[in-house]
Amino acid sequence: MSTSPERPAGAQHFDLVIIGTGSGNSIPGPEFDDKSIAIIEKGVFGGTCLNVGCIPTKMYVYAADVAREIQDAARYNLHATYEGADWPAIVERVFSRRIDPIAAGGEAYRRGPETPNITVFDGHASFVGPRTIATSTGGEDVVITGDQVVIATGARPAVLPVFESSDVSYYTNENIMRLPQLPQSMIIVGGGFIAAEFAHVFSSLGVDVTLVNRSERLLRALDREVSDAFTEIAATQWNLKLGRTVSAARDTDTGVELVLDNGETLQAEVLLLATGRIPNGDQMNLQAAGIAMDGDRIKVDEFGRTTAEGVWALGDVSSPYQLKHVANAEMRAVRHNLLHPEDLRPMPHDLVPSAIFSHPQIATVGLTEEQAREQGFDITVKVQKYGDVAYGWAMEDTTSFAKLIADKATGRLLGVHIMGPQASTLIQQLITVMAFDLDARKVATDQYWIHPALPELIENALLGLEF
Ligand SMILES: Cc1cc2nc3c(=O)[nH]c(=O)nc-3n(C[C@H](O)[C@H](O)[C@H](O)COP(=O)(O)OP(=O)(O)OC[C@H]3O[C@@H](n4cnc5c(N)ncnc54)[C@H](O)[C@@H]3O)c2cc1C
Repeated sequence: MSTSPERPAGAQHFDLVIIGTGSGNSIPGPEFDDKSIAIIEKGVFGGTCLNVGCIPTKMYVYAADVAREIQDAARYNLHATYEGADWPAIVERVFSRRIDPIAAGGEAYRRGPETPNITVFDGHASFVGPRTIATSTGGEDVVITGDQVVIATGARPAVLPVFESSDVSYYTNENIMRLPQLPQSMIIVGGGFIAAEFAHVFSSLGVDVTLVNRSERLLRALDREVSDAFTEIAATQWNLKLGRTVSAARDTDTGVELVLDNGETLQAEVLLLATGRIPNGDQMNLQAAGIAMDGDRIKVDEFGRTTAEGVWALGDVSSPYQLKHVANAEMRAVRHNLLHPEDLRPMPHDLVPSAIFSHPQIATVGLTEEQAREQGFDITVKVQKYGDVAYGWAMEDTTSFAKLIADKATGRLLGVHIMGPQASTLIQQLITVMAFDLDARKVATDQYWIHPALPELIENALLGLEF
């Protein structure tokens, strides 16, 4: 158990201080009822995933998927016409009816009589000493101390200097989903998963999307074959400017104008920046508390401990993965470790899967083919096309595939990469196979696979691995 920090005169003291209400807000449960807890949140309660990340984006993605199905209906000899989106109604449904009430309800709960041991502060938290934090509540400055402090302050959108130094109007994931009207055209800068998801959302709903990316490939952190295939399909859907950077940006009467490094000029009604995310530790005066950074992230050990006694960190502010399921898993480890200092649990970082909800959808777990080769595995690789299994015929699919990489020596899967419809659902079965260390050969043959369902894609991919 940590010793108490020195308390400056007038400071309010708590057993536990939690900074950030994304994953951090899930820490207090009944087992903390006997502890005094401060929760500090400078923004909207509930954090990125709920308010401006995973959840609302997927609500838009689902609508975009439906819009695209309608536009692709002729493939199935159906007569259907996509007549456009009632954008303000989508915004209203997503935010006014779903997201905003949940955020408000979460805050009211923490401030209400159900959690009398919890005090909520609504200012920016910044360290002024070891486990000593300056913040505010209702506009009044306060200093608080905690025996234990958990930093769960997430990350923010990165804004490239060319945009910061110009006065061009731009959006990020924090406000693009609340546009008052659907624009006719949009420039998206970036080539990662956020850019890919928003490009799908807006183009499928009818916006003319131009995507500018510094690298020649989109989603370049993925397995090369997947990244190449995705980039090829993206070129048929969006106006791609690859291998290009932005030299200048300005507002015009009708929107924005960007000048690229090759002199080309682009114009659109709206500009969206999706060029990565910066962990928020740099805004918290961490050195005053003896908390070290590791690059741009707060440095933590496998249990979530920072370099300062009694201070923990989790989620995007410190994690090598900027994913909600990882932030949640780290939160569960830290929650346990706060209560059981004699029995510390590591934060689980093995076999972290992820999905990209673009068009097409992508899901991935484990090593890429390049990584597996670099690590010296003797591998067998199978690329199984959706179009070669019965359900893929029904879908008239010509571009989607599952790529499996396995270790010849052990029969174990090393990596799975799926690009196509339902990728994020299909992959879960193979996440289980990898998590429980099952032999890929037996997984293929020692169970039934429903015919002619889409998981036959996985069955055939497994059978295609040559051991
Ligand atoms: C557009 C988008 C889509 C995404 N989609 C997915 C997805 O589909 N699947 C997935 O797994 N992940 C997705 N993510 C990532 C996911 O949202 C994050 O990994 C996750 O929300 C991180 O949670 P966290 O608890 O670390 O931080 P957050 O949820 O960001 O919470 C941090 C909180 O701390 C507050 N805060 C920050 N600094 C301070 C301070 N100094 N003082 C007080 N309060 C402070 C912030 O206001 C915020 O509320 C997406 C992210 C984005 C941006």
